[in-house]
Amino acid sequence: MIIDIHGHYTTAPKALEDWRNRQIAGLKDPSAAPKASELRISDDELRESIEKNQLAKMKERGSDLTVFSPRASFMAHHIGDFQTSSTWSAICNELCYRVSRLFPENFIGAAMLPQSPGVDPRTCIPELEKCVNEYGFVAINLNPDPSGGHWTSPPLSDRHWYPIYEKMVELEIPAMIHVSTSCNACFHTTGAHYLNADTTAFMQCLTSDLFREFPTLKFVIPHGGGAVPYHWGRFRGLAQELKKPLLKEHLLNNVYFDTCVYHQPGIDLLAKVIPVDNILFASEMIGAVRGIDPETGHYYDDTKRYIEASALSAEDRHKVYEGNARRVYPRLDRALKARGL
Ligand SMILES: [Zn+2]
Repeated sequence: MIIDIHGHYTTAPKALEDWRNRQIAGLKDPSAAPKASELRISDDELRESIEKNQLAKMKERGSDLTVFSPRASFMAHHIGDFQTSSTWSAICNELCYRVSRLFPENFIGAAMLPQSPGVDPRTCIPELEKCVNEYGFVAINLNPDPSGGHWTSPPLSDRHWYPIYEKMVELEIPAMIHVSTSCNACFHTTGAHYLNADTTAFMQCLTSDLFREFPTLKFVIPHGGGAVPYHWGRFRGLAQELKKPLLKEHLLNNVYFDTCVYHQPGIDLLAKVIPVDNILFASEMIGAVRGIDPETGHYYDDTKRYIEASALSAEDRHKVYEGNARRVYPRLDRALKARGL
């Protein structure tokens, strides 16, 4: 089985975006604010938006199951206040849940949280619990920078985040550390802000003793870990100067990287530098980079091709495709076992 741990509902029917635009307009003019119940999307519309897009590509490329979360750039936690984010998260998570019900063999949910800059992350717990306990979601996306590129929250190692971590440990769910859209003109959303955040999250873990506090806490750092694998020597050297344990003991029981790296040399480097037990297959399709690479004639985000062409053994490929995901996402493993898989 091939599990893609990083997919977003980027192809949701346009009614969703229209509703969100009205919600944003309502921040200035409350009479324009829509009710959640005014968003109506039928099962047929959901089915069509998935069958023609993600599911078609999964079948074409040969992946079986996607861990599916709301569109990351649309989370935009910096817009409005907690109430704005709360209503918006509930809507987006419910749509992913409905997709997982319509296509139970192909999609399982991961939640976005109703984060809001300056608001205690504890406020996210009711939505998180609903998604896990009622919707059967197996993970969350945690935004380390709800301000959208201004980095006003404390680092991930700060006690500020502990209520979320305590709940994650209790419920046995990992977090993908995933920012949203950048509202800072210096940082392009998917080309800079995402990769900066991946690198930043890793370094925040490195300088702290977070995983001594939470030995079973699990973070997935997406987009191949940002600059981390490429600069592994720098990070090892910094850890050494800070008198931290070797990175293998200090971070690699808790931190994992996905394979959303869109060329062969990048995947080859990832596979060479990072232990195979810490690499999880992912494509993030249909996402930031939707074109065809003229050098290969294939889609940049068809990441399975790179894994197949890498030096990984058959046994290691199995870990990347399935084994590691089952270990890092215990609820996913249990859901599959319940179906005899
Ligand atoms: Zn993503």
